[in-house]
Amino acid sequence: MLSAVTRPQVPLRAAVAELPAYVPGSRIPVGAAAFKLSSNENPYPPLRSVIAAIADGAADVNRYPDMFATELTEAIAAALDVQPASIVAGNGSVAVLGHVLAAVCEAGDDVVIPWRSFEAYPIAISLVGATTTAVPLADGGRLDLVAMAAAVTPRTRVVIVCTPNNPTGPAVRAAELDAFLRAVPRDVLVVLDEAYVEFVRDPDAADGLAVFAAHPNVVVLRTFSKAYGLAGLRVGFAIARPRLARGIRAASTPFGVSHLAQLAALASLRAKDELFARVDTLVAERGRMLGALRTQGWVVPDSEANFVWLPLGERATAFAAASARSGVLVRPFAGDGVRVSVGETEATDDLLAITGNWLSGDR
Ligand SMILES: *Cc1c(COP(=O)(O)O)cnc(C)c1O
Repeated sequence: MLSAVTRPQVPLRAAVAELPAYVPGSRIPVGAAAFKLSSNENPYPPLRSVIAAIADGAADVNRYPDMFATELTEAIAAALDVQPASIVAGNGSVAVLGHVLAAVCEAGDDVVIPWRSFEAYPIAISLVGATTTAVPLADGGRLDLVAMAAAVTPRTRVVIVCTPNNPTGPAVRAAELDAFLRAVPRDVLVVLDEAYVEFVRDPDAADGLAVFAAHPNVVVLRTFSKAYGLAGLRVGFAIARPRLARGIRAASTPFGVSHLAQLAALASLRAKDELFARVDTLVAERGRMLGALRTQGWVVPDSEANFVWLPLGERATAFAAASARSGVLVRPFAGDGVRVSVGETEATDDLLAITGNWLSGDR
């Protein structure tokens, strides 16, 4: 028997002990006047109809939710014109990504990702015991799909394609994604993370649903957190062929989507026109932000999402601190750049004053 002396404490799995921490965007201290442009949230408050649905559902929370989110699954399937058997809802699309990886990765398999990209990817990959191959972005913050295809080896089980890419902003184009999918073996899963798809306006951008229809090895991830404004309730979903969807469901946390989240997502789908008018406003505000930054002299990548990337390199952290002192919270990635979410008009105005001062050296 092992003695208490030789094994004094419970060891953590090595993969867990070494995980990079997920850094959330800074939060506004209570009572402080500030704009929070640090987490790509929707700046609009929930619609009355959505609040009413949540309030109605409150009376039933002594019961477990519908485990398969049946009504929501059917509503999503109808809205996207896919079979309900292809939809797997979960507790935010980050959780769904974890379930996708758990469904297909054996320990020691490899997952190819673009980098810099969404910081949740390397964490989710390590947690299933897989390894990460990170492929550097091309110029302009774009995914390098040629290099990503070339990084696929016999050990590769999954490739994650983030489009538009968080935190840089560009979307993958249809022609480059088609060429990529022709180059990748058909037993490698390609995950298209389309968290910001509702903000895409580039007519040449890839159409995830069309790609899904044409390729059985493609899974699309979508979320209610960004365009639909439900980040606080945690609902996202995967679109997958029924066989893969069954595997993802089997790997999912039971009752992963709360009753209130299911009702709020359903109410949001019913209010789609109203919500998408807000998305149009945010897209216009994104254009104003990009245009004004370029006029000031900033070199910023095109963005098809609800954020803009400032490639500040070593000065990223200092800029974020200066911005916070002026009441605008942004998200720095140390040594690389700063991501600024598109929010209120006044927030853009304040941000542009900060970026203008920064360039004129008045810090
Ligand atoms: C915000 C975001 C998500 C969505 O996360 P949820 O868990 O659904 O809130 C997924 N992927 C990327 C790239 C994101 O930026």
